[in-house]
Amino acid sequence: MKSYRKELWFDIPSRRAFINITPQITACILESGIKEGFVLVNAMHITASVFINDDESGLHQDYDRWLEKLAPHEPINQYEHNRTGEDNADAHMKRQVMGREVVVAVTKGKLDFGPWEQIFYGEFDGYRRKRVLVKIIGE
Ligand code: ZN
Repeated sequence: MKSYRKELWFDIPSRRAFINITPQITACILESGIKEGFVLVNAMHITASVFINDDESGLHQDYDRWLEKLAPHEPINQYEHNRTGEDNADAHMKRQVMGREVVVAVTKGKLDFGPWEQIFYGEFDGYRRKRVLVKIIGE
């Protein structure tokens, strides 16, 4: 069995964003040489997500509005967590809803996706460098 590990870095110049990272994951699979197995992709930060859905800008705006209704960034003092001096309690909650990681089957050297499935990095507390872990196992 082969094993491959890589960290992808992101430096998002806004508080929140959704980035399609499918091309980077496809490149990792190619680099790994693994044809049959699994790829795990997870955010290494507790204020960011990795999830699978459709690459459609309207949907991303809808997510952003929905998450902002669930856990508004402002007012900052509505959250106990922000009494620590942080201002990102909403980002912890948004990440919890959108998830930490995805696992995708690798078949014949490719992501074995259903129709429209794409992998996204969800940033909820940007303006700084953050990492995503890619782990691929198989043969
Ligand atoms: Zn925090």
